[in-house]
Amino acid sequence: MRCPYCSSHDSQVKDSRPSEDGAAIRRRRHCPDCGGRFTTFERVQLRELIVLKKSGKRVPFDRDKLARSIAIAVRKRPVDPERLERMMSSIVRQLESLGETEIASDLIGEHVMEGLRVLDDVAYVRFASVYRNFREARDFEELLGELSSEEEASREDESGASSDNDRADASD
Ligand SMILES: [Zn+2]
Repeated sequence: MRCPYCSSHDSQVKDSRPSEDGAAIRRRRHCPDCGGRFTTFERVQLRELIVLKKSGKRVPFDRDKLARSIAIAVRKRPVDPERLERMMSSIVRQLESLGETEIASDLIGEHVMEGLRVLDDVAYVRFASVYRNFREARDFEELLGELSSEEEASREDESGASSDNDRADASD
């Protein structure tokens, strides 16, 4: 597995254990080149999903991309990462069990909103506020950029300056 920090191909597995009630294997990895640590998950994939976007474009469903957009919505919120992983697994399983290969992007958004509403009100509102715009005119793909610029704007309001918060977040 390629190191996400330095792109070295030599990461080593330090620890491997069942996760999400046995639905996944969680591996802690260590990069000998830069010392970076990261986690990977191994899961069953029942079928290949294609996301049908508002624009009519079709792209392969990307769980990591979904995870990133959700991570922005829950940033600095007290949400248990395990519960978040379970929520995502549940969404993916529901999508897979629809029996359709193509999934409308707004259906994915609906599922995420439902899941976040249970986990954290603030994360839900963050996601939903962007999602409403997306339903009117935008594409699900823009969600990531929308949420992150919104976050940056609010952080600047709080601190009065744009500091190097992203780096601090990454080392959490
Ligand atoms: Zn590395």
